[in-house]
Amino acid sequence: MKDYESKNGVMMFAGMPVTDIADRFGTPVYVTDEQRLRENYRNLYNAFSQYIDTKIHYACKANTSLAILSVLAQEGSGIDAVSIGEVMTALKAGIPPEDIMYTGVNVSDAEMKAVTDQGVMINVDSVSQLERLAKINKKIPISFRITPEVGSGHSDKVVTGKKGSKFGIPKADVIKTYVRAKKLGFDIKGIHADIGSGGQTVQPFLDAMDVLTDTVNELKELGIDLEFIDMGGGIGVPYKMNEDEMDLNELAAGVTDIILENTDIKKLIIEPGRYIICDSTVLLTRCVDVKDADTKKYIGVDAGFNTLIRPAMYDSYHYVAIGNKFGKAATAKYEVVGPICESGDYLAHDRALPDPSEGDVVVVYNAGAYGFSMSSNYNSRPLCREVLI
Ligand code: PLP
Repeated sequence: MKDYESKNGVMMFAGMPVTDIADRFGTPVYVTDEQRLRENYRNLYNAFSQYIDTKIHYACKANTSLAILSVLAQEGSGIDAVSIGEVMTALKAGIPPEDIMYTGVNVSDAEMKAVTDQGVMINVDSVSQLERLAKINKKIPISFRITPEVGSGHSDKVVTGKKGSKFGIPKADVIKTYVRAKKLGFDIKGIHADIGSGGQTVQPFLDAMDVLTDTVNELKELGIDLEFIDMGGGIGVPYKMNEDEMDLNELAAGVTDIILENTDIKKLIIEPGRYIICDSTVLLTRCVDVKDADTKKYIGVDAGFNTLIRPAMYDSYHYVAIGNKFGKAATAKYEVVGPICESGDYLAHDRALPDPSEGDVVVVYNAGAYGFSMSSNYNSRPLCREVLI
């Protein structure tokens, strides 16, 4: 991860001083750099599409802002949706139904009906769901999410692909579930697996792809030919200064090599959320209170875990800087904490920062993924603004 530029001691974001953005829109505020968003999309698309016909389904759970979805729609992105709300938001942003895939878990009949009424393909997660879908809509194309028994992620809480996971068709049941779907008369298009979110190494993606391609070939022998493999999301990004990015070309070459060498599959779907949106966005929050509590020094800001829950929920690390004292020497280590009435409410622990004062603009880096979309009204606080530059 690289740092931002400074002008007259103020951090610049998307060509604007962060202090101007904070003054104009108030704080807390999530600010997204449209250019960076487009670059991330293109980097990923180009890395994979040089090898295979690739469709990106942006995992909009990472950030469902209409402005962001509209930019991605212009880039040609499809959508990975996990709820009827996400489906309707994607449609509103101009994504056509055939470019949306619904991958729900523990899905009610009412939600399946609403999704299929929109003409959106269902990625079936369980045998129960398949049998219920057969009574609701047999004309909708389907694929299956399988449990690959391969997991990775930035926290145990976001690993999805392990044996015993609540997600996907258990490995032992996969073949018979496809056979059952064929017997029911479904138009079966593909196969999907997701290993988890925020993995930083390539190997687990390759291990999961081995499972997917073996399954594709077993199905072919039974007369079930699939059109696509969907490798899910999960491509991690660096959150720490000077930490390296995953080598996208190594990932793309490795994954597509397994597909092209071993199967007749000609189309790959990928479902990145974090990779596309994460580093395009910062959270600006204002210092409202400064406290020296003997054993700890606190910078009290106006964003808490109601605004950004990742540190409190997963112990996630977000780099922070004081935007109006950018490049100034650190004077001490501080806890950056919010206004929520819980001691677990923090944005950053033990950070070397310059002397803080009330009114400073604290910048939380890499806040685009699972930031605003996981924010809440806890303590009866309103949701904050999102701004696209
Ligand atoms: N696809 C599926 C099925 C997921 O469960 C997730 C995240 O949990 C994603 C895509 C997106 O993951 P990420 O934001 O890490 O790319």
